[in-house]
Amino acid sequence: MKYLVQKFGGTSVNSPERREQVAKKIINAKNEGYTPVVVVSAIGRQGDPYATDTLLKFIESVNPDLPPREMDNLMACGEIISGVTMAATLEKHGYKAAFLTGGQAGIITDDNFTDAHIIEVNPKRIHKLSNEGVIVIVAGFQGETADQLVTTLGRGGSDTTAAALGVALNAEAVDIYTDVDGIMTADPRIVENAKTLEVITYNEICQLAHEGAKVIHPRAVEIAMQKNIPLRIKCTFSDAMGTLVTAGAENGSVEIKKDKIITGITHIPNVTQLKILTSDYPEVDSPQLKILKSMALAGISIDFINVHPDVVIYTVKDNVEPKAVEVLTNMGFNPIVTPNCAKVSAVGAGMAGVPGVMASIMEALTAMDIKILQTADSHSTIWCLVKQEDMEKAIRALHSYFALGE
Ligand code: ADP
Ligand code: MG
Repeated sequence: MKYLVQKFGGTSVNSPERREQVAKKIINAKNEGYTPVVVVSAIGRQGDPYATDTLLKFIESVNPDLPPREMDNLMACGEIISGVTMAATLEKHGYKAAFLTGGQAGIITDDNFTDAHIIEVNPKRIHKLSNEGVIVIVAGFQGETADQLVTTLGRGGSDTTAAALGVALNAEAVDIYTDVDGIMTADPRIVENAKTLEVITYNEICQLAHEGAKVIHPRAVEIAMQKNIPLRIKCTFSDAMGTLVTAGAENGSVEIKKDKIITGITHIPNVTQLKILTSDYPEVDSPQLKILKSMALAGISIDFINVHPDVVIYTVKDNVEPKAVEVLTNMGFNPIVTPNCAKVSAVGAGMAGVPGVMASIMEALTAMDIKILQTADSHSTIWCLVKQEDMEKAIRALHSYFALGE
């Protein structure tokens, strides 16, 4: 059986007209000889009646301290409504369709409620229904524990469901349908002439996703990559080719012409930089280690870490800044706090081994009078911290300097 996993995001299913477009994509896949297995997100975004954020707001108004296990029972509802609606739409067109919850589809997770990880997929029921010619619609973003408690998978969880099913079914491909034509050289909401990429490597899309491009969740990319299942990012509302995600030239399977050193620019807004001049505390033994450990102990996730003999610099999300500062102050440190920053990253497999990329980036930003607060680089990514008010300008400056729109 030639399985094709098709995942549709919240904006793809939020009106009857859009659900018709979704149905068309599914029926087309069937007509082309594939066995589609469909994954859906909840209908719409915050404010829409059945969106997950709306359900969350509702229950918070009843009890803001609901245990995570109970939360998951509620948060799983959005995808159930959406999935049943999609199955009903297909039935209306004369196709046999069946909706399955994550648990019914055989998605087993750990019991880390609200942010569970998939540990196993048992697609028995999907195989059975598919063999009978029934189109299976699976609720994204959810699973169940080994003892049948409902769990949800955290942000971007439907992408993860799709990738995990793709692996379990050994699918021909996993198609992630969304409201843009594919993976673009930057967020099209910020860069007007952002261009859709035809191909991208798993590694590059993973970097882009980790560094803020929310078009696909990095966990989903990692899962698909392990078994080399082709991933495609496509638009529900057009017939554009979309973006193909492959292993790329890195392991020799697909040759990707790299005429550009940068593939895309991405960003994470609303972060705070914390800087501790450890040389000011000669009486403290291994201050660097103590500082990093204290953040981990307090459950504060930190990013953009630069450790030097006499200074430790890192960033936290703006909303946890007060807690981070409190932990540091209690330890006797007096951090230099720079709130309202943004991390802008340039990603490209083509930059490996090319000298002067960091210099070019600094040149592009300084030419626009953008102050760089911190930088770091790896073989495929360069990270820059700038003030939040400079973020959009920085993204556009880099996009244009590296001619990504051309
Ligand atoms: P869905 O509801 O389909 O899961 P998401 O909102 O999660 O959709 O992801 C799609 C959005 O990601 C697009 O509307 C776009 O604004 C945003 N986005 C950010 N960076 C990029 C990028 N580099 N390429 C494409 N889209 C991007
Ligand atoms: Mg998404």
